[in-house]
Amino acid sequence: MVMSRSELGKTRLPLWAAGFVALTCVAILALSAWREWETRAAELRNAEVDVTNLARSLTQHADDTFEIADTILTGLVHRLEHGTGPDTITKLQVYLPTRRSSDRIRGIFIYDETGRWLATTEQIDFAKLNNSDREYFQHHRASTDRATLIGRPVRSRSGGQWIITASRRINHPDGSFAGVALITIDVAYFVKFYERFDLGPNGSASLVNNNGIMLARSRDDSGTYVGLDLSNRPLFREWNSRPAAAVYYFTSPLDGVRRLSYYQRSSRYPLMVLATMAQDDVLAPWRREALTRMTFVVGLTLLIAVIGLYLVRQLLQRQHMAAAMVANEAQFRLLAEQSSDMVTRIGLDDRLLYVSPSCARIIGWNSDELLGTSAVAGVHAEDRERVEQAMAALKNDEAEEARLIYRQRHREKGEIWVESALHVTRASETGQIDGIVAIMRDMTEQKDLQDKLASLATTDGLTGLANRRHFDDCLAEEWSRAKRDETSLSLLLIDVDHFKAYNDHYGHQAGDGCLRALGRILVTQIKRPADLAARYGGEEFALLLPNTDAAGCAQVGERVREALHELAILHAQNPPSRVVTVSAGGATIAPSQTMTESSALLTAADRALYAAKDGGRDRLVMSGQVVPWPAKSA
Ligand code: GH3
Ligand code: MG
Ligand code: MG
Repeated sequence: MVMSRSELGKTRLPLWAAGFVALTCVAILALSAWREWETRAAELRNAEVDVTNLARSLTQHADDTFEIADTILTGLVHRLEHGTGPDTITKLQVYLPTRRSSDRIRGIFIYDETGRWLATTEQIDFAKLNNSDREYFQHHRASTDRATLIGRPVRSRSGGQWIITASRRINHPDGSFAGVALITIDVAYFVKFYERFDLGPNGSASLVNNNGIMLARSRDDSGTYVGLDLSNRPLFREWNSRPAAAVYYFTSPLDGVRRLSYYQRSSRYPLMVLATMAQDDVLAPWRREALTRMTFVVGLTLLIAVIGLYLVRQLLQRQHMAAAMVANEAQFRLLAEQSSDMVTRIGLDDRLLYVSPSCARIIGWNSDELLGTSAVAGVHAEDRERVEQAMAALKNDEAEEARLIYRQRHREKGEIWVESALHVTRASETGQIDGIVAIMRDMTEQKDLQDKLASLATTDGLTGLANRRHFDDCLAEEWSRAKRDETSLSLLLIDVDHFKAYNDHYGHQAGDGCLRALGRILVTQIKRPADLAARYGGEEFALLLPNTDAAGCAQVGERVREALHELAILHAQNPPSRVVTVSAGGATIAPSQTMTESSALLTAADRALYAAKDGGRDRLVMSGQVVPWPAKSA
């Protein structure tokens, strides 16, 4: 079977719908994920800006701090180089202790070329102290470099706390080494200052010198980090190739936490500040919110998916149902169109929705002319109510099917008898009645035959009167009616006199003719529609006269007798009249009488008939006036 493009599209509709649902879900999820990723990136960018700003401020702060130290050192060195001699030192030793007022500068120290203490801000006896073992001292003694050296943190010899040293070489006028001027700064000062800034639970700010030695670090109360050598860390290994300031991400070898950092090198001093935040700390609020948002989005997507799939399933079911309906319809039409009967489908409004082509043969109109017209339009007026009642009963679900025989209009033949089998149809989805299928066939011939048979069953072939069986039925019926309505019912039994002799004399055929003539007389003598003339058997007839009293009955009997006389059929063997005569016995049942069986009426009439025969024939005897049988004259 070749499918058209649009049909193919329709069958693929559920597939398209499922695809659409899947695409929608994927799109929502992808967009949300992308948005969340963007938000994450933005959070990190903001954190980078924060860290950068902080590192810059801290660098500035470190610069300022060391600038103060540097200024003091430069002044001291200058003074010592241009006015050496014991009195300069003495003056300094007087001056220095008064100088120590800043909370940044811990102490100021001056050593001679042997490391001996010459002057200090500390109020201690330093006569025997020597600092020639210190790294900064050895550095200045070995190097002619005049720049300020920021050394590694050391434990103060005077106070025991961690300190950072800033030192300068003092030269003799000939340029040889004359000693060292030193300023110490408390590590705790930086630590305290750095802790004012919130870098999250796992963030830190560090001050590192250019050799990679940690000078101070926030959250370092136990002094774990002070003095730590970071020179072999990647940041310092590629020190020269790195820019002066940059954001970088790294996983800390100290605690394994991934951090985002910003370092800023001081432009003036061999220092840098490193501010870091733990990536997890930065992203924690985003993570919480993203989780809530994504839970909502995933829930929504699931809902869409579930509803979408439900709809797709419905679509599939409908499609299967539609396909089944099309197949059913095709089957129905195939059957209907092959059938010699006229098949119609009738809607709930009694209009014809479908008419099979055989309608042209059965009622003379073709299906196009009938479609949309009323299904009962062609039904004979007298039968219409019956047909409509049957259809209403079907539609009201009072019956599943009905079989009707009625008269139907035919385009050419005028009227035909049809037999219709009606059956309700139901909607496949709901099971509700949605119409009626009627299968109609012409049964005019059968009907005629039936009528003929029915009439044959009730009439006597010779005379055309009702036969004995029909008479019996009528008698029983009229008997009940009379009893019910309390009306009188009369019966006349009529018997041809000496008919055997007639037959013998004139022949059987003449006898038949005689019986037919009597039949005609009986038919003409009964006037009322309810009266019945019947051939009771042989040459015996019966007249059933409902609602007739004894007088009326006698009247009819007399009329029959007289009419036969008037016909004057010769009957030589029937003296004294020598014409065909009858004897009649009449009986009437009145309401007051208490006969219980219809046979009682028959018996009474029969008795009266015998009485008439016995009374000399050619007479009527009514049951009530039954004369006692005359004594037989021998
Ligand atoms: P009665 O006056 O006492 O009635 O005498 P009957 O001869 O009429 O009475 P019976 O009952 O002896 O005879 C009836 C005769 O009627 C017998 C039969 O030959 C004749 N008969 C019955 N049916 C038919 C019929 O259908 N055609 C003809 N030709 N004769 C019939
Ligand atoms: Mg007889
Ligand atoms: Mg007779």
